[in-house]
Amino acid sequence: MSRRAGGLSIGINFNPNNACNWRCVYCQVPDLQRGTAPDMDFAKLSAELNFVLDYVLNGEFFDDYQVPVEQRQIKDLAISGNGESTSLKHFDQAVALIGEIGRQWGLFPDCRFILISNGSLIHQSHVQQGLKTLAKFNGEVWFKIDSASAAGRELINHCSLSDRQLMTNLELASQLCTTRIQTCMLHFQNAWSSDEQQAYLDLLARLKTQQIKIAEVLLYSVARQSFQAEATEISSYSLAELETMAEAIRALGYSVKATP
Ligand code: SF4
Repeated sequence: MSRRAGGLSIGINFNPNNACNWRCVYCQVPDLQRGTAPDMDFAKLSAELNFVLDYVLNGEFFDDYQVPVEQRQIKDLAISGNGESTSLKHFDQAVALIGEIGRQWGLFPDCRFILISNGSLIHQSHVQQGLKTLAKFNGEVWFKIDSASAAGRELINHCSLSDRQLMTNLELASQLCTTRIQTCMLHFQNAWSSDEQQAYLDLLARLKTQQIKIAEVLLYSVARQSFQAEATEISSYSLAELETMAEAIRALGYSVKATP
């Protein structure tokens, strides 16, 4: 059950090996390692997703888990793994299979089809193909941007994504399917210093100037314990702190949702 979605979110994990190309300091994946998603067993993906949907739509799922009546709906199918989902070799085929199963069960358009991604691999053609397929099902990508500066991304995400690559990938994503920016704000060293906050706002202003279309900015903070070495140095942003930033972003003309 997803607090943010307000109902059932069915997460699909392409990274059961807990492997990601990034290492975010707030990451909640235990035993996180650097790497890519393993090869997909498509028959298993199909069988498991159909099993879960049958249990929810025809079975006793909501009773078994005592879900309040007003939350008894599937809000989204979310490709959101214990690592970067787009590192899957046959990513586009997996998106197509999930979309087709969702369509067969009549989930869309009430249920959203979401890819949660750090966006770092969108320059790869098979990932772009996957985003095109996602768009065919009215799907959307939630593109992670935790800092507008390369130094900030190195500090928070332990990645070496350049400013240029970030802009290129964001532009590609926005051209291929609906794109929302998701940003985790947290107290950790100087991650969100006033300079960093201004750089983030400047980046969003630049996207407007360059007509890179962003459907919404999703601000959130750390709701659960990090499994990384930096866990004890991290604390959450309050809703009031998130709202202060949300207001500044709204002033740039964006739709913003803040969830602590
Ligand atoms: S991108 Fe996601 S899975 Fe990868 S390290 Fe960051 S939070 Fe964890």
